[in-house]
Amino acid sequence: MPARTYRQVDTHIIEHLIGIAGAANVLLSAEDMEPYTHDEVVGFSADPEVVVRATSTSQVSDILKLAQREKVPVTPRGAGYGLSGGAVPVYGGIVLSLQKMNRILEIDKKNLMVTTEPGVIVGDLHRAVEEEGLFYPPDPASLDSCTIGGNVAEGAGGPRAVKYGVTKDYVSGLEAVLPSGEIVHCGGKLVKNVTGYDLIQLLVGSEGTLAVVTEIILRLIPLPKVQVDLLIPYDDFQAAADTVSDIIAHRIVPTAIEFMERDSVLAVERLLDKDVPHDDAEAHLLIQLDGNRQDAVDVDMELVGELALKHGARDVLVAKDQRTRDRLWETRRMIIDALNDESPVNHMEDVVAPRAELPSLLKGVKDIASRHSVRIVCFGHAGDGNVHVNVLKDRIPDVRWSDLVPVVREEIYRLTLSLGGTITAEHGIGATRRQYLHLALDEAQIDLMRHIKDVFDPHHILNPGKIFP
Ligand SMILES: Cc1cc2nc3c(=O)[nH]c(=O)nc-3n(C[C@H](O)[C@H](O)[C@H](O)COP(=O)(O)OP(=O)(O)OC[C@H]3O[C@@H](n4cnc5c(N)ncnc54)[C@H](O)[C@@H]3O)c2cc1C
Repeated sequence: MPARTYRQVDTHIIEHLIGIAGAANVLLSAEDMEPYTHDEVVGFSADPEVVVRATSTSQVSDILKLAQREKVPVTPRGAGYGLSGGAVPVYGGIVLSLQKMNRILEIDKKNLMVTTEPGVIVGDLHRAVEEEGLFYPPDPASLDSCTIGGNVAEGAGGPRAVKYGVTKDYVSGLEAVLPSGEIVHCGGKLVKNVTGYDLIQLLVGSEGTLAVVTEIILRLIPLPKVQVDLLIPYDDFQAAADTVSDIIAHRIVPTAIEFMERDSVLAVERLLDKDVPHDDAEAHLLIQLDGNRQDAVDVDMELVGELALKHGARDVLVAKDQRTRDRLWETRRMIIDALNDESPVNHMEDVVAPRAELPSLLKGVKDIASRHSVRIVCFGHAGDGNVHVNVLKDRIPDVRWSDLVPVVREEIYRLTLSLGGTITAEHGIGATRRQYLHLALDEAQIDLMRHIKDVFDPHHILNPGKIFP
């Protein structure tokens, strides 16, 4: 996308913004705006000219009308927990925070739907619906920090994708504000809806480039009554992968099948100063099963255990109570923090391949690591083929590191594509992957997407510098 020029935010625009959102919700000092300069991508930031914290849909609409009239860029933002620079205001302008729109508006038990504002923290949403015996399955590892609006904008996934799918599978209605300021309502509390093009699915995963999401209706399901988690250590990743294939071939679909490489487990142990059983194993699988009847879940658990041991697992550790389960999942959830602690400069990829290609993907990544003499640690979602590949700088000199990262990235992408995969499964293209979009999509598809962007946002005021090369 050619570089665009935008109008600078001046006192006239600031006065208007204060008129819309109130002085307390308009941040101007460098200190107040610092948290809005970056997301969770290491070493990537840009300064906004002003931050506005909206508290209602009509404020969002007025802000966008002003921005479009004055040709000022607007970057929507949830919690800033993204991993692709999506909420970073690369063209300056206005950062539009949705964090204060954080009310759960209705839990509708008759229709099994929840209506929520976008700034609600995903973990809070989980707890609120679970108190009613209901379940919203998508569970990004960042769930206690990120917002549901950010999840919708990124099309977020999580470990439970294996059995329950991802965010897009649960959105049945959206209120969104177009860059013109017009407010649109798509869908509703509907299980079925084929009325015209599916604008909901277009907006889900559009990374804040087409519209600002201000209200979300999500489908719920009954909360499973029984849950069990297994931690299974292996001396060989291939054996772990074979277990996964065998479990699926036996028509058991676990809630989650996560894998953790030895280096990722060791990093968490060092960070938390806690022992993980069999920490010298090459790989761990973390498998969750759920259902409504203890005896049925127990039958599946026994079979999963047998299959794991048949494929050479060292042990099968079972967690049935919440405290033990939390301990197992803490290891998985803390990996990103632990790797950041280990090597504060690092680079993370989020590739996905067909599940059966996982061993080839991991082997190929290890070959890339040894060819370039760099440490690469992998973990992720063995159940759905999504691998988080972490390239660690460790003590590599700065100059070599900046030359190395683009080369390693491109090799990882080409390897994944050659296996029938793609370059991001859940973290999005954002600002940090856009120069590689052409590797994954052909020109015709990128052109179609550009046209869609032009229709929604002819002046490109909404989240410019994202997705498109
Ligand atoms: C430790 C860690 C673990 C993670 N684990 C996972 C995981 O398991 N699965 C996963 O999918 N992701 C994961 N992520 C990535 C991240 O949490 C998700 O992308 C999440 O959806 C970001 O939400 P957020 O509220 O922080 O959004 P932000 O980072 O603030 O924004 C993300 C994007 O959404 C846009 N946006 C935000 N709100 C709106 C809105 N209301 N309307 C329109 N656009 C909007 C922004 O412009 C930006 O492009 C992880 C991140 C971390 C740091």
